[in-house]
Amino acid sequence: MQTRPTPSNGRLFWRGLSRACAVCGQRRLTRRVVALSETCPRCGFRFERQPGHFLGAVIMSTIVTFGLILISVLAGVWVLWPDVDAVRLSIVPLCIAIVVPAVLHPTCKTLWVAIDLMMRPLDPGEALGDLVAEERPTQER
Ligand SMILES: [Zn+2]
Repeated sequence: MQTRPTPSNGRLFWRGLSRACAVCGQRRLTRRVVALSETCPRCGFRFERQPGHFLGAVIMSTIVTFGLILISVLAGVWVLWPDVDAVRLSIVPLCIAIVVPAVLHPTCKTLWVAIDLMMRPLDPGEALGDLVAEERPTQER
């Protein structure tokens, strides 16, 4: 069965970070702004390669969100000192907790797909959608 070459690690990382398909570079992979399509419209690569695949993306999103919340709390304490008010201190972290995961989620998913491809290159027959018809493997009889 035909195997598509996996792009270099640098290219995979950049494509993942820029919300493009890590395999072919196709953009506009999201539906309704934040939902990532199941497959790439150009190469047909299935982003969720196995059940539970996006757990790594959720962990990345959580780490970034909690890091930003920690930074905002520390900055809030520094700005409000010595009259630290819990209500005023919690406004910015609360906004971060709501907005950042929603905005970051598609990027974390495409980045996780890229990281996964660095660790587990494309399998034979995976993401052959945009190859010309003659190059596609024939069905085994
Ligand atoms: Zn693609």
